[in-house]
Amino acid sequence: MDQNNTRTDVNSLGEFGLIDHLTNFFEIKQPSTIKGIGDDAAVLEYGAMCTVVSTDLLVEGIHFDLAYVPLRHLGYKSVVVNVSDIYAMNAIPKQITVSIAISNRYSVESLEELYAGIHAACAEYNVDLIGGDTTSCPKGMTISITAIGQAEKNQIVYRNGAKPGDLICISGDLGAAYLGLQILEREKRIWAEHPGVQPDLEGQKYIIGRQLKPEARKDVIETFRRIQLQPTSMIDISDGLASELFHICKQSNVGALLEEDGVPIHPEAQMMALQFKLDPITCALSGGEDYELLFTIDPSDIEKIKYLPEIYIAGEIIEKENGIKLHTKGGNLHDIKAQGWQHF
Ligand code: ADP
Ligand code: MG
Repeated sequence: MDQNNTRTDVNSLGEFGLIDHLTNFFEIKQPSTIKGIGDDAAVLEYGAMCTVVSTDLLVEGIHFDLAYVPLRHLGYKSVVVNVSDIYAMNAIPKQITVSIAISNRYSVESLEELYAGIHAACAEYNVDLIGGDTTSCPKGMTISITAIGQAEKNQIVYRNGAKPGDLICISGDLGAAYLGLQILEREKRIWAEHPGVQPDLEGQKYIIGRQLKPEARKDVIETFRRIQLQPTSMIDISDGLASELFHICKQSNVGALLEEDGVPIHPEAQMMALQFKLDPITCALSGGEDYELLFTIDPSDIEKIKYLPEIYIAGEIIEKENGIKLHTKGGNLHDIKAQGWQHF
């Protein structure tokens, strides 16, 4: 509250507006800080190698619901969302710290489950748990993870390097994690009204798996190294394709033409979207948590990725004046709105 007794609601600024409002007067003082706020991870330069750092906070009731998320999966996913931000810089994660605030609702056994998931993710992504902090809190649980990674300075890929003519690429199918969440929420409502009814999850294994046990695209970064491809820009898809494309376009000062045909959507997600009376492409554009990589490449690099089954070409970067558009299967052009997943 300031002296005028005004009170501004945080919702009025939006997540990114709020971050900018609170931090834009901070100056970078250290020459080693080569990227601060504004990308998937910060970049620190010490000698030939750079260290990249990213942190995330997960709050019970906001980011996870233990009514249907097993603690082991929660632990695994908490690590995945962080290492995903490191891969999005084209860097390799090396260490994590884990901090938790827990209420007395949690037993040692339940926290063992959480840490079994964290342990499994550390094994999968080859990272060391090097520290953290533990405290109590009045309600629920909060988990904060920081991931630290490494890359050579010239390997790092930012959100701001896309240029007109670059191809827009996506590392895998989108929308499934969001639809998985819709199913889990639906089954939770049914359970609340009719306790004892067994959840009906048949034929939905893939999309529920995408929600409960996402993976970060370590393999894609390894492929980039192997085929010597340096994307011009990159971001991980945590909030939905539309929102992430907006970040790349805004920071690169360009526009984009996205082809609906080129956006990969799993058949199970297609079917489920229709059951929920949603348009599959809307789920891909606005649903979050798929943790695929969205990146752009110079058109001269197309030969390197053309025959890679895991990479989809979904459009082209265009001049900023031409906007951010979706070319639909029906041949129409629509403006894409940044309506990715909103935290506030
Ligand atoms: P991502 O979705 O990739 O995890 P975020 O949208 O959370 O990234 O954050 C965008 C940028 O703002 C990042 O550089 C992040 O470090 C920074 N940031 C987020 N919250 C804060 C905060 N409270 N104070 C300072 N920087 C922040
Ligand atoms: Mg990110």
